[in-house]
Amino acid sequence: MSTERIRKIINNKELNRENLSYLIGLEGEERDYFLKSVGEEYVKSLGKKVFFRGLVEFSNYCTKDCYYCGIRKSNSHSERYDIDDKAIIDAAKFAHEHKYGSLVLQSGERSDKAFTERITSLLKKIKEVTKGELGITISLGEQSEETYKEWFAAGAHRYLLRIESSNRDLYYKIHPEDEKHNFEARINCLRSLQKHGYQTGTGVMIGLPFQNYDDLADDLLFFKELNVDMVGMGPFIEHTETPLYDFKDELWPIQRRFEVALNMIATLRLLMPDINIAAATALQAIDPMGREKALRYGANVIMPNITPTANRKDYTLYENKPCTDEGADDCSNCLSIRVEMAGREIGYSEWGDSKHFFKRTGKD
Ligand code: SAM
Ligand code: SF4
Repeated sequence: MSTERIRKIINNKELNRENLSYLIGLEGEERDYFLKSVGEEYVKSLGKKVFFRGLVEFSNYCTKDCYYCGIRKSNSHSERYDIDDKAIIDAAKFAHEHKYGSLVLQSGERSDKAFTERITSLLKKIKEVTKGELGITISLGEQSEETYKEWFAAGAHRYLLRIESSNRDLYYKIHPEDEKHNFEARINCLRSLQKHGYQTGTGVMIGLPFQNYDDLADDLLFFKELNVDMVGMGPFIEHTETPLYDFKDELWPIQRRFEVALNMIATLRLLMPDINIAAATALQAIDPMGREKALRYGANVIMPNITPTANRKDYTLYENKPCTDEGADDCSNCLSIRVEMAGREIGYSEWGDSKHFFKRTGKD
């Protein structure tokens, strides 16, 4: 095994495109060495703390038609649901009582007035019932500047909007090329979120058809260039009822997508040492300990699913989604033990904001 090149890249921070691509593609013992080294380095600089964000996937109605997603508008087999406000607020109370620190509200994309106003009032209500103590991240897709401003004023302070792929050509292989799915518009949304004061997160899917290690290296450079505060990225998992399923035979084996996803997390941790990196739920769909492995190698945020159990099975972005039959309590208990097994500590009741955000905005 030759570890010299890896050691040199880590020590000298030689993080050019070629080296990033090399790290992302590592296999076997060299890969093990790389992951372990990053894990050790990052604990030295960022510490052992990881933060919980209770995830509520409150609705799977969506107006968009992304080619990879099981809840896309054109999937007529998707059983649609929209959880009522009381159940969402109860989930927020659950997160607060269980010292999760923060909540993530996620759904399919809608931008009609009834939806945007409902979110504004929900955000205010959640802030009120948790005495302003629960941090709120939202992940509700592309919206107007006005809407972003309104939701920020109502209490959301972090926003997740994955670019999905920073390669424009690839973007249009996984989305229709139309007004609703516009690459530049999505980047503009990310800029607008930063402008209006959000801690801004993005991310990509890993192991998409037509994607290679260089594309993934470019994704990491895109995050750096955009100066984002948080990243959530995970393996692509095909769904039978989506157009991308036609390319299933061209995908990397699922285990390789998982390995490369961990390589991406570790490589990003080298490139952006002070951002928040989430251990994506899709990792757990492949390996029961997938998210905990991500915590070992660079991730510092984990999002226990606290969506009411009855609805979980219908938020099927991909098949074999984990924990769809467990209640929030089961998840919470098993997760804290597993985080500790991964050698990390939970920052109970802490918002766990991105350190990078405070540096970027001078609010340090
Ligand atoms: N609708 C919002 C949006 O698209 O930004 C938020 C919800 S969307 C379901 C959240 C993320 O799920 C997307 O950004 C995408 O990366 C991920 N996702 C969708 N389908 C997936 C799949 N088949 N495999 C892995 N991740 C998937
Ligand atoms: Fe809708 Fe988001 Fe799925 Fe695209 S990824 S179809 S916007 S829920």
